[in-house]
This record gives sequence, structure tokens and C-alpha cells, in this order.
Amino acid sequence: MNLVPMAEILNDAHKKGYAVGGFNINNLEFLQGIVWAAEELNSPLILQASEGAIRYMGMDYVAGMVDAAVKNTSIPVALHLDHGSSFEKVMQCIRNGFSSVMIDASKLTFAENIELTKKVVEAAHSVGVSIEAELGTIGGTEDDHKVEGKDAMYTDPEQAKEFVDATGVDALAVAIGTAHGVYKGEPELDFERLDTIKKLIDMPVVLHGASGISAADLKKGVELGVNKVNVNTDFQQVFTAKIKELFADDPDLYDPRKYCGPGRDAIKEKVKEKIMILGSSDRA
Ligand SMILES: [Zn+2]
Repeated sequence: MNLVPMAEILNDAHKKGYAVGGFNINNLEFLQGIVWAAEELNSPLILQASEGAIRYMGMDYVAGMVDAAVKNTSIPVALHLDHGSSFEKVMQCIRNGFSSVMIDASKLTFAENIELTKKVVEAAHSVGVSIEAELGTIGGTEDDHKVEGKDAMYTDPEQAKEFVDATGVDALAVAIGTAHGVYKGEPELDFERLDTIKKLIDMPVVLHGASGISAADLKKGVELGVNKVNVNTDFQQVFTAKIKELFADDPDLYDPRKYCGPGRDAIKEKVKEKIMILGSSDRA
């Protein structure tokens, strides 16, 4: 695979003030819809897979499909592990060619989070792989990852500075009021906190749980220094909505190409919409 390290993509975004999508893949149709959209808009791309998605597809299939996608495109692509849960899981992805990993030790104490993240940074950087870590906890549910509303803790700016200095991570995911999965009610983001964090750490900032966040709020986030925006649920929803619509029209449909293909087109359109909001078009 000729993947690029995620840091390469994000450092340019940080320098020039735009954001790149961290778009989750769940199957072949997601992968193609996402890559084709980025290609059409000449945008750099961060493909990411959660541990649940890797279990669903199989590691060899993830690596093999992404390899095929990369061979067939000229845009810079990074392959990133979303919410790596342990040192072992992260190493498994690095061995299988991922160019970036997230270690999510945000449930541990601050000191333990630093210790584990540092260990992952040393291992990953020694082979040119980028690292994203998280401080504070992002609410909601994503695969195995579940944080109840009351346990979602916003990122403390001073701690963020101490954390990035101590660990040497390439990107930091911050908790400012977004949630994974589907929003209950109107999400409210703490932009002031984001602004303070960005000015203090002066490096790529990641926003998780961006599905369901309005275009205006996403744009404001990018203006205040967000450089990577994770989207999964939005694509799952448009894919499924399209398939439901097709079956409502014709319940006798049986050829998967006749409904997965249009589902893939729906993902592609949604990805293009996100890329235009994030400002990464023509940056490849
Ligand atoms: Zn996340």
C-alpha cells in the first residue's frame, strides 16, 4: 500500500486552516463511495476503520480493499484505526499496513492515559505511523465504545497542553459537546473551549461524533482550528435510507447490486457535501 502518514495530511490542514474527513468504512460500498467522492473533489482522505468494523470485514479484507483503492487513485490517502482500545490492537493494525492509529485511553486516569499513549507514540513513530489520542470523553455509542451522557467530560485546555507535550501525539481528539451515534436533541458545542485549546496546543485537532452537526457549526469548528472531522453515522443513515426507499418502491428487489449500488451513490453524495463544508477540496 502506498498510504501516507496521517500527520502529513493533517499538518498541511493545520497550517492552512482547513479540515479533512476521517471517514469510516464498513464495507466495500462505503470504501468506494468515500474514495470516489474525494477523488472527484481532489481532496486528501483519511479512511478509518473501527475495531468493530475490522472484526466485521476481517483485517485482511480491510487491508486488501484499501490497497486496491489506493492503487486506483492519485489522491493522498491515510488508513487510520478509529478508537484503538489497547497497545496490542494498535500494533496489529500497524503490522497490517495502517498509516495511522488512534489510541483511546481516555477512560483511564490522566497519568495512565499519558503513559499508554506515550508507549504507542514511541512504537508507531519508529515505523512512520501517526498517532491520534483523546482527552476528555466523547459521549454516545460507537461499536464497542459507549459513554453515557453524564460521563462525557469536556477536555480541559491546560491538561490538553500538558498531554500533548508529554506524549508527542500528532493529533488530539477533544471533547467539546459532540457525541457518537445519533443525537438526541440539538447538539451544543463549546466553541470557546475549542478556541482556547487550539491556541494552547497549536497542532491538529480532531472532532469526533460530527454526524448530525450542522454545516454552520462544522464550519465554525474548522475556523477555530479543527483539522479532522470524523463521520460515520451520517453515511450509515443515507446508505440505509436509500435501500429502504428502493425496497418500498419494489419489495421484490433481490439483486444486491440494484440496491447497494444506489446506497453507495448516496454515500458518495454525502461525502462530497462534507468535503465542501470542511474545505479540503482541491488540496490533494
Ligand atoms: Zn470517535
